[in-house]
Amino acid sequence: MRKKSKQNPGYAHQGFENDRLFKALCDHVAGLDCQGCDVDGEVQRDPRDTTNPEIHYGIIASGNTLVEDAAMRDQIFADLGEDCICVEMEAAGLMNHFPCLVIRGICDYADSHKNDRWQRYASATAAAYTKELLEYVPGVEVQETKRALEVLQSAPCDSLRPMATPNALDSPDSYTIAWIAALPIERAAAEAMLDEEHAAPTGFTRHQTNTNVYTSGRMGEHNIVIASLALS
Ligand SMILES: [Zn+2]
Repeated sequence: MRKKSKQNPGYAHQGFENDRLFKALCDHVAGLDCQGCDVDGEVQRDPRDTTNPEIHYGIIASGNTLVEDAAMRDQIFADLGEDCICVEMEAAGLMNHFPCLVIRGICDYADSHKNDRWQRYASATAAAYTKELLEYVPGVEVQETKRALEVLQSAPCDSLRPMATPNALDSPDSYTIAWIAALPIERAAAEAMLDEEHAAPTGFTRHQTNTNVYTSGRMGEHNIVIASLALS
């Protein structure tokens, strides 16, 4: 995972002072951050007593439109009920094709104030939670579910990128978990959770139109393929 820089705020907690929720009617003032936004429009909340991530369980609303408007956000929540805890854009297409569990890190309040500052942190928390969850999933149980190979071969997606280590497993069948990390920052967070990284399985072929990036590796007792879009 790359070190933080001015453009890249890093994967660590970004500080309570950068976690600001504004009232729905208080729109963002132009600029990359909220320095110019109305302080009086900020929702006053009890300070959090820890920087540890909070885990929420509920319904994730997934759509093909970026939600960056408080009124639209509130309407979605009003329509779906209180079990709906957040909105996102990547899972909807996946859910239609195979059973999966959606785990997302929360990085903004889906309003006009949204920016990229918390995205890497959110990616890291989601990846860490995924790793912890997998420690509780027996490997034999996963063998009976739909295989990662089937997911990869059906994906609408070129050559595999070189891997850090040469210990490829012989067969794609050895991989039982497919981890979809759509964005490169999500892939970096997921790769950081691997206990070891493998070269591509020797029996893996991909469709010529497949430009996705795949990383193979082991996490605990699970052999995992991380799939990601080929964006830089
Ligand atoms: Zn703002």
